[in-house]
Amino acid sequence: MPRVAPKSQERRARTLALLRNQSLVAPDLRSYDHILVACSGGKDSLACLIYLIDEGADPTRIELHHHDVDGRGPPTFDWPITAAYCRAIAESFGVPLYLSWRDGGLRREMLREHEPTARVAFETPEGSIATFGGRGGPGTRLRFPQVTADLRLRWCSSVAKIDVMRSMVCNSPRFLGKRTLVVTGERAEESPARARYATFEPHRTDTRCGTRRRRHVDHWRPIHGLEEGQVWDLLRGHGVVPHVAYQLGFGRVSCMHCIFASPDQLATVR
Ligand code: SF4
Repeated sequence: MPRVAPKSQERRARTLALLRNQSLVAPDLRSYDHILVACSGGKDSLACLIYLIDEGADPTRIELHHHDVDGRGPPTFDWPITAAYCRAIAESFGVPLYLSWRDGGLRREMLREHEPTARVAFETPEGSIATFGGRGGPGTRLRFPQVTADLRLRWCSSVAKIDVMRSMVCNSPRFLGKRTLVVTGERAEESPARARYATFEPHRTDTRCGTRRRRHVDHWRPIHGLEEGQVWDLLRGHGVVPHVAYQLGFGRVSCMHCIFASPDQLATVR
């Protein structure tokens, strides 16, 4: 780990103080059996992990979850390096990493014609791969995801990430009867739509008031109020080497061929 300059340490301390002040709804981290961090490999997901560790969250309860958007099919959307980068981060921080995906990823869903949406698969702590879904009625997509904040039309986020996480939690018996915290790194500064996200709320998989298969699942966005510079301060504070996309000049890490990529970014990728 590189030495941290005093100025950077000061900025990081200020950022952590700001996070504590704004987190009036911050959950008691000790009250959760599992803390699941959605890890894209981008700076915001890493800032969430760092914040949890700095706040004294028990590392044995933290786990990283990375969604492979190409679903083990031909490389189409993702950066080839991202899964290995997430694995290196997990090893460096001493926390487990679990991959999850929709079979065939975004490419298969985009080209889907007269067949069901593919099943979801995820790695388990026991070292096996669990699979669910894929038995729905036939349907046809044959469309690119639209560039819009509407997740029904920008279907890539839900098909490859949000719904994959949902399926993993809903189909993992280890979360039944437990308290689980799902942590994601959306920030208000990123877009007006994200600015409207709640910082803390029940997760979409929560069934605490149900009569059967009860699980308590909260969703926390701990860095929702941070600006980009403050996020970088957190990473610098732990000597994290950023994903190669940042080193190439990209402002955010998501899919390499993200539908929001600019012409310059796509030219760089090419
Ligand atoms: S990163 Fe871009 S292409 Fe990938 S799922 Fe999100 S919006 Fe879609």
